[in-house]
This record gives sequence, structure tokens and C-alpha cells, in this order.
Amino acid sequence: MYGSSVIFPPDRCDPPPTKRQRKTKDALVPVRTPPPPSRPASSKGFTQKQSTYRISAAPSGRGRCRRCRAVIGKGDTRLEISAFVKPGRYTLLLRCTAPSCIDARLSAAILSVYKHIERVPVDAALEGSAEAHRVVHAINCAGPDAQ
Ligand SMILES: [Zn+2]
Repeated sequence: MYGSSVIFPPDRCDPPPTKRQRKTKDALVPVRTPPPPSRPASSKGFTQKQSTYRISAAPSGRGRCRRCRAVIGKGDTRLEISAFVKPGRYTLLLRCTAPSCIDARLSAAILSVYKHIERVPVDAALEGSAEAHRVVHAINCAGPDAQ
């Protein structure tokens, strides 16, 4: 077939369709493997996942705020941060809901996960409560969209 008058314009780098010329029959020519999906290579070898957040009431008085180290009293509204460690493994971090602990960085991180602060999960016991509303409002006020 080669040498015929069929002309392939050289502006494409696709292999010409007449390439099956090798003599070694049934030599399985490995198809060029497509490049892996482009994602930043993690040094740990897996994709970093985002943390998840949740507004809840402290079931005990033993937790401490990750930021100000204050003890979060039993029943106090708190922010749970499930920080990704490795696939299938998260560490639960706590934040008290003092205005100084709901900072712009936290707010931005939450918004980057949920897009809207109203989508942050709220514990059933707090759903619709003034406390939940207060925390949502505090996150909103700390965020980049704050007036
Ligand atoms: Zn705190």
C-alpha cells in the first residue's frame, strides 16, 4: 500500500492507517497508554481530600477548641472539622464558636467545600435553632463575601 499515490497531509501527527506492516504476527503491540488524568501528583501517592464541616452541640465537656484551646462545654455549639488524613481516615478537630475562632480562613475553607454556608451540615438537635443560625451567621460574616 505504501508508495501509492495516497498522500497524507503532513499537518497531522496521527499515524497513517497503513501502519500494519510489521512481520511479527500476533505480537501484541501495546496500545499507547493514555496519560493519567491530570491531577497534581501528591507526594503521598493519593489525592488529598477536602475536610468536611458540621455544626453540632458538644456531647461532652471534654473537647477543646483547636484554635484557642478553650474547653468546649457540654452542650455548647461547636464546629466539627473532619480533616482528611488518608483514604478512609479522618481526624475530628473541634472549633468553639467564639467570634475570634471563626476566622476568615476557616470561613473560606468552609465555603470552598459547601459553596453556600447554608449547606453546611447542622446536627439534628441544632437544626433551625438560634444557635445554629448564630454560627452560620458568624461564618458568613468572617467570609470573603462579608460586607
Ligand atoms: Zn476557640
